[in-house]
Amino acid sequence: MAFIEIDNVSYSYDDERNALGGVSFGIDAGEFVSVLGSNGSGKSTLAKLMNGLLVPRSGEVRVNGRPTSDAKSLADTRCLVGMVFQNPDDQIVASTVEDDVAFGPENLGIDPAEIRERVARSLAQVGLEGLEGSSTHALSGGQKQRVAIAGALAMQPQVLILDEAESMLDPRGRRDLMRICEELHGRGIAIVLITHSTEMAMLADRILVLDQGALVFDGTPQHALTRIGDFDLLGLDVPFALRLSRKLEERGMPLEPQVGIDALADEIMRYSKS
Ligand code: ADP
Ligand code: MG
Repeated sequence: MAFIEIDNVSYSYDDERNALGGVSFGIDAGEFVSVLGSNGSGKSTLAKLMNGLLVPRSGEVRVNGRPTSDAKSLADTRCLVGMVFQNPDDQIVASTVEDDVAFGPENLGIDPAEIRERVARSLAQVGLEGLEGSSTHALSGGQKQRVAIAGALAMQPQVLILDEAESMLDPRGRRDLMRICEELHGRGIAIVLITHSTEMAMLADRILVLDQGALVFDGTPQHALTRIGDFDLLGLDVPFALRLSRKLEERGMPLEPQVGIDALADEIMRYSKS
């Protein structure tokens, strides 16, 4: 049994058109999955279905074996599946970092000493140790996003969903975010990285692609590379390095397709020495 089971799930906001239609897959404990899709493909709808913010119109979502439609398990589900959204400013609720990260556990009525421990531990996990007393308004976008992640971690989730959490960050903020995802994955937390960036998605162990509310691909990044032409048709960006490695291959340079520019440079060097 997968930790999150999406079982033939459909959802509609207006009864006319499905935002998500007949989607089935599972997320295992400890996996690192990315969900890739163009604007309006159903990514955020799927994210909200996975932590019980939305309940399917038909089909079932089960978290740790319990349907999200079961009102009694909703509070548990929200703890087990943490969410970080796109806009860092929308997620900060308190004026100091400590109060912000403590917000969730306080609502659960957890003992203050335990909350302080969780806050310190969560901040350390996102590289913001010692910033408890800082004002949240003074933080950069990337730092705010890390505070939002720390707030989710303070609930001790098994799964962390990041819904285009990188999209308002600069390249450095994105790199920091990816490093944190990798570290959390290393600690056994499952990561669901929702993005419209093909390049970011390739960093996961498994890629799901949504198109107009349907799941159109579920496989490894390596397999995804062989289907990258299809991604173009789905309105997704194809990374420059990948387009270039394809072009070079077409002109008689049999390179392994590469997503990153450094990896492509290495591959070209390897080819030219062979
Ligand atoms: P994505 O996150 O991939 O951009 P969404 O899940 O937000 O996609 O949206 C999927 C579809 O559902 C889109 O057609 C969008 O217009 C529609 N939709 C999303 N949220 C709402 C809403 N609150 N009310 C009505 N329609 C919505
Ligand atoms: Mg979205």
